[in-house]
Parts: sequence; C-alpha cells; structure tokens
Amino acid sequence: KSRDPEQPEFHQAAEEVLESLSLVLEKHPEYKEEGVIERIIEPERQIVFRVPWVDDEGNTRVNRGYRVQFNSALGPYKGGLRFHPSVNLGIIKFLGFEQIFKNSLTGRPIGGGKGGSDFNPKGKSDGEIMRFCQSFMSELYRHIGANTDVPAGDIGVGGREIGYLFGQYKKLANAFEAGVLTGKGLDWGGSLVRTEATGYGLVYLVQEMMQDYGQDIEGKDVVISGSGNVAIYATEKVQELGGNVIALSDSSGFVHDPRGMDLDLVKEIKEVREGRIKEYLEEYPEAEYNEESFDIWKLDCDVALPCATQNELDGKSAQALVDNNVIAVGEGANMPSTPEAIEVFLNNDILYAPGKAANAGGVATSALEMTQNGMYDSWSFDKVDKELKGIMTNIYENISETAKEYDKEGNFVVGANIAGFIKVADAMLDQGVI
Ligand code: NDP
Repeated sequence: KSRDPEQPEFHQAAEEVLESLSLVLEKHPEYKEEGVIERIIEPERQIVFRVPWVDDEGNTRVNRGYRVQFNSALGPYKGGLRFHPSVNLGIIKFLGFEQIFKNSLTGRPIGGGKGGSDFNPKGKSDGEIMRFCQSFMSELYRHIGANTDVPAGDIGVGGREIGYLFGQYKKLANAFEAGVLTGKGLDWGGSLVRTEATGYGLVYLVQEMMQDYGQDIEGKDVVISGSGNVAIYATEKVQELGGNVIALSDSSGFVHDPRGMDLDLVKEIKEVREGRIKEYLEEYPEAEYNEESFDIWKLDCDVALPCATQNELDGKSAQALVDNNVIAVGEGANMPSTPEAIEVFLNNDILYAPGKAANAGGVATSALEMTQNGMYDSWSFDKVDKELKGIMTNIYENISETAKEYDKEGNFVVGANIAGFIKVADAMLDQGVI
C-alpha cells in the first residue's frame, strides 16, 4: 500500500487473496521463506505508453495504454485488454493479479497479465476505433508474442477490435502469428465457443455448485447484470437449462421482465444496433425500466449473476438478495462483489462462486484457441464446448475439495484462492528467485 497508495482496486483484490493465504502459510512455511508472497504481489513488468490517434474531425487525441505482465510461472502472460474511460494502472493491476489465479485454476499452461486503455469506444466511428487500435498495437507489439504474452478482449474489446489489433501486429511483425492474440475471427485462427465461453462457463460452474447442494437452475428466477458479452451468453445458457432470466442491465439502467427476457431482442439491441437496454421496452412496453443500474439486486430472485463490472454489488445489495432468499451467486464479472457483500454471502451460507473460478471459462477457451493455433487445427463447436464444460467441472471440484481440505467447506473464496495460488507458488519455487 505504501508503494502504490492510489490503487484501491488492486489492494482490495490482493487483500482478499492474502487473507485466504494465511491458512496456507501455516502449512507451507517455505512459501514465506522464499519470498513467494512478496514476489507474487509485484508484477514482473508494467508497461505504460502513449496512444496518439487522429479522430474523424482531424484532431489529434492522446490516450494512455497499459500492459501489466504479472506472473509467468505457469506459461506466457495471458489476459484481456479493457478499453473503458475508467481504466488506470490500479484497475489493470487488480485484473492482472486476479488473472494469475484464474489462469492457474483452468489447469492450462498460462501465466497472468492484463492491459487496456482509458479510451472510450462509445460513440466512436469504425475508422476511429481502427486508428486507435493500430496506434495501441504499434507500441504493444514489441512486448507480446505467442510464447511471451497473449492478450485477448475484455470490456470494450470484442471481435472487431481484436481484428484491427491483429492486422496491425501482423503488419509490424511481418508474420501471421495466430497464437499472439485470442478471440480472433473464425476464418483466421479463432475458436468456436470463444464468444460464448465466459457466460456458458459461468452457468456450467453455477449449475455444478447448485447440484452439489441438491439444487438446480431449472425453474429458478435468475437476475443477470450487464448486457454485454458475458451477460448475453450467460442468459442463453440459463434459458437452455430451463432457468428464467428476469432482468438484464447496462450502465444506464435495468429492465425487469418477470415472464423472462427475450434474448433474441437483447442480442439485436446490443450486438446489431449497439443500442441501450432501455430499447427493450419499445417491443415490450409492459416490462419495467429502472435507471438505477445497481438496484437490479433488489429484485426477488433465486440466482444472481453479476456480469457487468467491479464493485457493482455492495453489502446492502447482498443483504437485499439474502432477504429475498437468494440461493446462489456466481460472478461473471471480475470482482463485482465488494468485500462487505462477500461477507454477507458467506455469513448467510449462500452458494457463492467468486469470479476467478466462475468466469474462468473465457480464458480457458482462449487457451484452447492457442492449442488449436499451435496444431494448425480447428475443432468443432461440440468438442470445444465439451472441453469447456469439463474444465468448469474440474474447477468446481478443485475449489470445493480445497475448501474442505482447509476446514472451510462451502467457502469457495478460500478454495479458489488457495487452489489457484499453490500451483503458481510451487512453480515459482521450482524456478528460483527471479
Ligand atoms: P462488455 O463490454 O461486452 O459488456 C459490459 C457490460 O457491463 C455492458 O452491459 C456495460 O454497460 C456494463 N457495464 C460496464 N461498466 C459498467 C458500469 N461501470 N456500470 C454499470 N454497467 C457497466 O464486457 P464483457 O461482457 O466482456 O465483460 C463484463 C465483465 O466480465 C467484466 O468485469 C470483465 O472483466 C469480465 N470478464 C469478461 C470475460 C470475457 O471473456 N469477455 C472473461 C472473464 C471476465 P454499458 O454498455 O452501458 O457500458
């Protein structure tokens, strides 16, 4: 904290992990002796750079770009790029730190990293987005590579942006190096299921957790925040499993449709028109709209899936969910619940799946994309989906068993933090103090 006082999100993420680790250090003093904790909370490398670009009016604009290469003990740095005006070094560090443990939980050979920019893609033309992405990659390209660092998408970075980024990388590197980015188009090295993976994976894990405790998503009312990539495909899988998604949101507000959200319409609004969730009411005027996005947690539901952004669900919201008898909470977003909210869930025996386990399906499928790129192969939708489901089941079993091993049955926060940490820590011990 004294080294980087102005990074509250990073401190929050690190404190949560370190608290769980106090249990491990009693059993494994060697981690302490060889400075694993001090080393793991310090990124291996942090790159901050200027991103100049020219807007449609001919004005020169300047944004700041980041790539935090946090830990490469298990493999090349891997993690998404976020383009959002709120981005700063502390936010990228929190995301990169979480990514270390998440990637470890996938069981795939990937280290942790994250990047992005304070660029706001909202309201920008295709040309502006392309010029921004080209400028961003003009610096980033020298720091990444299939065996070094493999970025992907996150908030504000989808297929279109990955395309522009890849085009510029290919030009500068003079090589078609498919494994340097994931989330690519299906015709040029992308993997089937990558688009759906985080949302589907979340629901696979939540279903696994619920079934373990004699529950099922079928027939349950589900509230999902956000209406971006993760929220849309979580909705699709919940509906497939017979659950009823009664609300979705964006940063302007939420829509509540107790009969069940019409997903085709949501996709049309968000993926085709790039519109606002409020437009849902043009077709369904009887649905309710509320301008307080985060009041979505006051709705009566059985399952809550926060899929928008960090700290969107605070202690009061968690209490409202508990008062409405919520059974399970699964995090599609990264760190959406505040520490107070997590405490409320754990104190009330809610089945609570933290993001670093529950939303790992995206990066796991990115790792499958890297495997396919390495083999010059592309797998069928069913094959990738089956792999994804298998990985999410393994993650659930791993975090659940680890929690039991440390006498914290049902505490998946402790389970995920410890299980993710041990693999990385052991690799760091093997590789010496570097
Ligand atoms: P998108 O950009 O596709 O969608 C984000 C959604 O969240 C939008 O509906 C957006 O609304 C809403 N949102 C963003 N910021 C805020 C805010 N400050 N207040 C209220 N609503 C907000 O991003 P993704 O769906 O890809 O990512 C969502 C979350 O999931 C993030 O935390 C991300 O890190 C995490 N995640 C994503 C993965 C992936 O594969 N995509 C993998 C693992 C985690 P609006 O349009 O109004 O901004």
